[in-house]
Amino acid sequence: MKRNEFLKMCGLLGISLPLQSVLSSCSSSNISSNNNPPESVIIIGAGAAGMAAGHLLAQQGIDFKILEATSTYGGRMKHNTSFVDFPIPLGAEWLHVNPSIFSEIINDNSTNIDITTVGYNSSLDFGIDAEDGEQITLSEIGLVIDRKFANSTWLSFFETYVLPSVASKIIYNSPITNIDYSSDAVVVTDTDGQEYNAEKLIVTIPLKILQNGSVNFNPQLPNNKQNAINDATVWSGFKAFIEFSNKFYPTFISYTTTPETAGQKLYYDASYGQNSIQNVLGLFSVGTEAETYINLNSDSERIDFMLNELNAVFNSNIASSSYIQHTFQNWNAEPYADGAYVYDYESFNRVYRLGQSVNNKVYFAGDAYTTGNDWGSVHAAARSAKRAVQEMIS
Ligand SMILES: Cc1cc2nc3c(=O)[nH]c(=O)nc-3n(C[C@H](O)[C@H](O)[C@H](O)COP(=O)(O)OP(=O)(O)OC[C@H]3O[C@@H](n4cnc5c(N)ncnc54)[C@H](O)[C@@H]3O)c2cc1C
Repeated sequence: MKRNEFLKMCGLLGISLPLQSVLSSCSSSNISSNNNPPESVIIIGAGAAGMAAGHLLAQQGIDFKILEATSTYGGRMKHNTSFVDFPIPLGAEWLHVNPSIFSEIINDNSTNIDITTVGYNSSLDFGIDAEDGEQITLSEIGLVIDRKFANSTWLSFFETYVLPSVASKIIYNSPITNIDYSSDAVVVTDTDGQEYNAEKLIVTIPLKILQNGSVNFNPQLPNNKQNAINDATVWSGFKAFIEFSNKFYPTFISYTTTPETAGQKLYYDASYGQNSIQNVLGLFSVGTEAETYINLNSDSERIDFMLNELNAVFNSNIASSSYIQHTFQNWNAEPYADGAYVYDYESFNRVYRLGQSVNNKVYFAGDAYTTGNDWGSVHAAARSAKRAVQEMIS
């Protein structure tokens, strides 16, 4: 295994090598309030960060609302429960850190957590190189952290442990287009002209939406903040899940990519760790690798393209002859995501600036708005929510 391949595979699961030591050293922190917490808070977005922030505010007894653009919660944790007999994670799939992150997010030691995740088995599982068919062992790859949810997903975790404390506070179908923080209260306005105000605001709108300029800030954000928003790179994102009548593939099929410029691409056994006899192969692709699929003209062209590239890996017609059904998720076509996540090679400093609050009134939480140590994941989004709430109330 060459070093660039090692880096590539670390990146393929959405985690870049330099970050892994940082992540493994991340620890939980409880939040504490001073005597002057805000009376009311608005959170924009009901994804991982928005729900995690609301959950912490509820624990503190602070009044809040969550304004969500779409008709549902979860954002990029979306899953499909009707494709096969286990939930298909259309966005976030792997747990990139220690499962202790679950209790860190719940922030309540009295809660009994019942979520099973499975790690890969370095002596039994292996991948192959799509170009030359060479076997790649997982121990060579160094997949020691990433875990799959067993018959469950990141979204299921949030539904069970976080949503109950925030569900009644979510106002759906409220895309916010204007944020006015020029006076004491923060006033936000949705596309219907409906205004909401509160003492403080937490923005969890995905970075690509802010880059598009569809949300106006008054006054304008400080230059260093706006420049970080404009300059950060957000990867395109496309996932596919294909059911086959037999399992002709190993745990991973790896492609040689240049993650820094082209993004990442990987086929993987999506049924891994599930209590299921259905054979589902996943495709994870971000950056220009994802655009290869996105830019095809139709879903029938996409599935033909994938079956052909899988046939080529196995030098036979095995993928086409075993094909049963597929489902796709194009993240670029989601109007309130418009892409996958900030790319793994973004500058730490820029992400740090993305996470900074403005005027002690407008706070940013979400996978792009972190302390700069880690980004582009559910755990990073949830941790940034904890940081924002802590900063707001202390
Ligand atoms: C293809 C792909 C694979 C991934 N794989 C993994 C993985 O394996 N593991 C992992 O940990 N992470 C993974 N991620 C990343 C993970 O999904 C995200 O980092 C995380 O879900 C982001 O949470 P968030 O709350 O910051 O943003 P989001 O989940 O995007 O939530 C933001 C919310 O704000 C709403 N919104 C947007 N604009 C407005 C507006 N103007 N007004 C009101 N509401 C608005 C959106 O509808 C959304 O509900 C993956 C993501 C993608 C796309």
